[in-house]
Amino acid sequence: MTSPESINAVWNARDLAALWHPCTQMHDHAAGIIPLLPIQSAQGAWLTDMQGQRYLDAVSSWWTCLFGHRDPRLVAALKTQLDELDHVLLAGFGHAPAIELAEELLRVAPSGLSKVFYADNGSAAVEVALKMAFHYYRNRGDGERTKFVALGNGYHGETLGALAVTDVPLYRRTYAPLLLEPLFAPSPDAYLAEPGEDAEACALRAAEGLRELLERQGRSVCALILEPLVQCAGGMRMYHPRYLTEVRRLCDAHGVLLIADEIATGFGRSGTLFACEHAGIAPDLMLLSKGLTGGMLPLSAVLATSAIHDAFYAEHAAGKAFLHSHSYTGNPLACSVARAVLRIFASNPVLADNRATAARMATLAAPLADHPHVAQVRQTGMILAIEMVADARSRKPFDASERRGLRAYRHALSRGVLLRPLGDVLYWMPPYCIDEDELALLATVTREAIDVASAA
Ligand code: PMP
Repeated sequence: MTSPESINAVWNARDLAALWHPCTQMHDHAAGIIPLLPIQSAQGAWLTDMQGQRYLDAVSSWWTCLFGHRDPRLVAALKTQLDELDHVLLAGFGHAPAIELAEELLRVAPSGLSKVFYADNGSAAVEVALKMAFHYYRNRGDGERTKFVALGNGYHGETLGALAVTDVPLYRRTYAPLLLEPLFAPSPDAYLAEPGEDAEACALRAAEGLRELLERQGRSVCALILEPLVQCAGGMRMYHPRYLTEVRRLCDAHGVLLIADEIATGFGRSGTLFACEHAGIAPDLMLLSKGLTGGMLPLSAVLATSAIHDAFYAEHAAGKAFLHSHSYTGNPLACSVARAVLRIFASNPVLADNRATAARMATLAAPLADHPHVAQVRQTGMILAIEMVADARSRKPFDASERRGLRAYRHALSRGVLLRPLGDVLYWMPPYCIDEDELALLATVTREAIDVASAA
């Protein structure tokens, strides 16, 4: 009989024989450098492994599970839908979950967005938006606008189109020869502020760089894509909302479409339903995924203005249709769960509760700012990031080859907390249901993890 202690090991052996994990050097698992954890179940903010060990999911399983795992309201929506319609192709067919979700998304989205195009993951939504923006100008007889502007340090996914507009070398470097080449504008990241410059001045300096770029090459650009307020995979780097106001103005002045990738920041994460609201701007295309289904099922949506939609609308012979399709586009199960997510927002004070949780996070993290190996603690709503460095005063980073973030990760796991740093940036992006005790545990373990990871 298998002893309880070895159940994880048994599953790990089978895992290593059959699976190839994402975002992972498999040797790290085989060699035991990064532990591999077989998860059996999840509830609320907690994951439980095959041996019954629990882990606080401080990163909402890659920023997806808004209300915690297996929220009963989402589970019920999924079960009900399953009794009626599992899946149907969305070309030539409609169904209530897709139609009603589209209506409801448009009701809460920034003004001007009036059509919903579905896909099934974040990167796919980015692909859709890039193709749509390019095709929009082509349909209008402007074949010169073939370029995209993306921001330094931005991240939009890892399929080839999405990776092309991503500026995180770890993911992009190897595939660069395969990728279309966007024009990169300077990042408004406030961590890069010059001495004496505040976050707003830093944002305005970046906007000035964008202005120069568009003045030189704006005529060749169809769209600009950005992550509003937080460059998440780029290390949870944050910027002042003034940048978004300036971008909107510059895009309008140069006839460039603005694509807001709200895949990570949407659905209350930033303190408002969508991060664009901090600047009071509306994009031409808005991308949603992750929290859209509260982390339960893969789904994404591209919201477009009627001006964009109408440029594709013509007699068949005009050949203007947007031809893009995924088998699981608008899957009824996923759409039903997404509707339940929106119902939760409509009938509960989620944003106000989040603001209270965010304030607690700020209080708990504040002492970390004095740590000799912490250069900055920064926060936007329920995203809090801690920049771990070799020397806080000079902000000198640790040598990446030392893998300090990994040390922090291992320590936190050993204490029952899933913190998954981005390089040496530790961050909290917990499910909204995280309570005071869980936050206190998170803060304690984070401090320990930084001590362990930064030790000589
Ligand atoms: N855009 C942003 C801002 C993201 O954070 C991510 C995922 N981390 C993506 C796009 C890609 O989404 P997916 O992983 O579902 O392809």
